[in-house]
Amino acid sequence: MKVFKFGGASVTNVERIKNLASLLQEQPADKLLIVISAMGKTTNALEKVAEAFFNGKRDEALQLFEQVKNQHLTTAKYLLVTHYLACEAQLKNFFTEVEWLLYDKPVREFDYYYDQVVCVGELLSTAIISAYLNECKIKNQWVDVRDIFRTDDNFRDASIDWTYTQQKVTEDIVPLYKQTDIIVTQGFIGSTDENESTTLGREGSDYSAAVFAHMLDAESQTIWKDVEGVMNADPKQFPEAQLIGELNYDEVIEMAYYGAQVIHPKTIKPLQNKGIPLFVKCFLDSSLPGTVIHDKALKGLPPIIVLKQQQALVHLHSQDFSFVGEKPVAELYQLFAELRIKPNLMQTGAVTIQFCIDDRAEKIEKLALSASEIFDVQVEKGLTLLTIRHYNESLLEKMSSGKKILLKQQAPETVQVLMAQ
Ligand code: ASP
Ligand code: MG
Repeated sequence: MKVFKFGGASVTNVERIKNLASLLQEQPADKLLIVISAMGKTTNALEKVAEAFFNGKRDEALQLFEQVKNQHLTTAKYLLVTHYLACEAQLKNFFTEVEWLLYDKPVREFDYYYDQVVCVGELLSTAIISAYLNECKIKNQWVDVRDIFRTDDNFRDASIDWTYTQQKVTEDIVPLYKQTDIIVTQGFIGSTDENESTTLGREGSDYSAAVFAHMLDAESQTIWKDVEGVMNADPKQFPEAQLIGELNYDEVIEMAYYGAQVIHPKTIKPLQNKGIPLFVKCFLDSSLPGTVIHDKALKGLPPIIVLKQQQALVHLHSQDFSFVGEKPVAELYQLFAELRIKPNLMQTGAVTIQFCIDDRAEKIEKLALSASEIFDVQVEKGLTLLTIRHYNESLLEKMSSGKKILLKQQAPETVQVLMAQ
């Protein structure tokens, strides 16, 4: 049994969905679990719906949602004949779920509403694709992953309840393979024990697929992308980026930790723990070798470059110019934990602590407010964090020249530089 994951770009329009079907037809017969993301930029569009709703702009939210609805109905119409009516009914049920909510007034926190709205992207895409595959005689069973993936209620970054979810996979998913060879389900989403929808963090579908691979003891997982495989830099930012044919789990965890957009940071562990290889392949040309990620120790990797935009630098200064002792540091970490903030880079000095975090205005305000009880606080925004693994000095020089450097950390394998434009 294998797990396949198809991201938004691989199902962004009718042509791509047809391509997915031909790709599956070329595969050797095998039991498959297919995890699919929302179509194209649907998640971004749904984020806008949730924001408009939360800001009290109901008409705008409804209008934005109308666009999402039409786009999916049109796609379904183009693809489906015999399965159209059943699929349309299924889509309309999901539309209604969201619209009910949009007619309410927001009384809970934003992240809750975000998840209730945004989760529909994956439900819509999988409903259409599952129906289309069945119409192409690629017999498959659609599953609502919210019946399988139980999570906590940390909305927008929910954690999976492994024990409960494993039980559901064993009891509900495994027996389904007696009736079908292929299961189609959603990435990125789950549900709490109160049946509230949750999401696992942007780009979370890779992780969903890895959880399934782990729990089903899959022979491998394949992530199908629009690039040749894992590159040593984002080809959109660096046209000279090159393919890395073979990587190991640890390197990918490092890359993801520093913000490489290749694979969701949480994806590797579930695979590594069971030694399940991860293939990253190109859905535009499945004959290309792609990248394999496994357990082997590797030497001679090229420099791996990661740029993280929209960074904020927070300076904390001890109020009475006393040394920054253990107590304020402990309190600061406590704050990070409470606000669920992960510093991307941190440096402590005698009377200062500086750290760089993703610029999420709401979180930074809360952090600055609480930290100001212990420190003088200053925040600088609009920064870029450059990370190079396996760097050399000339590359570092080239990448940071002409930039104002605000913070730098250099270790034998990794250098990180926080820069202003
Ligand atoms: N659709 C979600 C996103 O765009 C999850 C994913 O694609 O992995 O973030
Ligand atoms: Mg995606």
